Amino acid sequence: MPDMLSIIIPLYNEEDNIEPLYAKLDAVLGSLGHPYEVILVNDGSTDDTRARIDAVAVRDEVVRVVHLRRNFGQTPAMMAGIDAARGDILIPMDGDLQNDPADIPKLLAKLDEGFDVVSGWRKDRKDNPIKRNLPSRMANALISFISGVRLHDYGCSLKAYRRDIIKGVKLYGEMHRFIPIHAAWQGARVTEVSVTHHPRIHGASKYGIERTLKVILDLMTVKFLDKYAQKPMYLFGGFGLASIALSMLFFVFMLYCKIFLNKSFIETPLPLAVVMFMLIGIVAVFMGLIAEILMRTYHESQDKPTYIVDCTRNCKD
Ligand code: UDP
Ligand code: MG
Repeated sequence: MPDMLSIIIPLYNEEDNIEPLYAKLDAVLGSLGHPYEVILVNDGSTDDTRARIDAVAVRDEVVRVVHLRRNFGQTPAMMAGIDAARGDILIPMDGDLQNDPADIPKLLAKLDEGFDVVSGWRKDRKDNPIKRNLPSRMANALISFISGVRLHDYGCSLKAYRRDIIKGVKLYGEMHRFIPIHAAWQGARVTEVSVTHHPRIHGASKYGIERTLKVILDLMTVKFLDKYAQKPMYLFGGFGLASIALSMLFFVFMLYCKIFLNKSFIETPLPLAVVMFMLIGIVAVFMGLIAEILMRTYHESQDKPTYIVDCTRNCKD
């Protein structure tokens, strides 16, 4: 029996994309020789998305629908889809036809070669060059450097992976893009293939440049948790000692200038300001990290979902 595929698509105000998307998926998936399901997650849309995906689900029972109570964001919506999925292979993608279902066989071929995770690479990305493509390039380079998992395009939603690699992972923030990194750190074989990217025809993108910033902040959390979650003291303690050493150094330097050169910085606010702003900045970053750990505890230990389901269709087993 070939592996079952679960195509997972978060949708937020995509009313005009539903029918063409379904038509494309239907054409591609039918010919693959795999059993499959399409999970459409309505992430609290305020347009006609809800009614239109329900209509598709009534027509075709391989289409399963999850309506979330409100808009939770793309990552939690994807998590809702993953939780509903019954397939062995999960294939998330965008619902705005920017990803092309015709690329799915390409991804599956890589899984057949023995990889556990295949990530799409939008080699020729059709988004706003200044607002999206450039910052995203920079973020990708940074993620590659910091994570040590060498991919070109972490942000591409179109991916394929074996179900096991996501077991026990809870996604929130912008973290769906870190799935390959998480998997690689667990020992999974990760690769990428170039995929087609289309400009958006119907509806509007929900994101701007601020998304790149969120991604970078999420990256810091992921890296931090990987390295220091066991022994935060190595990091905080090291920082604390370095900071104390620095302040002593300043003090000795100023003392030296005063005693031997009779030169005083004390009257100027400058040294104080530099030191203070530096320390306040760094402390703020670490406060952020502590908050992130608390968030993680909050999300993971309480078993509190990052999304709330309103109702489903075709999801009863
Ligand atoms: N999306 C979602 N919830 C949101 C924002 C977006 O489910 O709060 C979905 C959206 O409908 C689309 C996918 O996530 O299917 C990617 O969103 P978008 O096309 O706006 O992102 P971009 O392609 O501009 O990065
Ligand atoms: Mg898009």
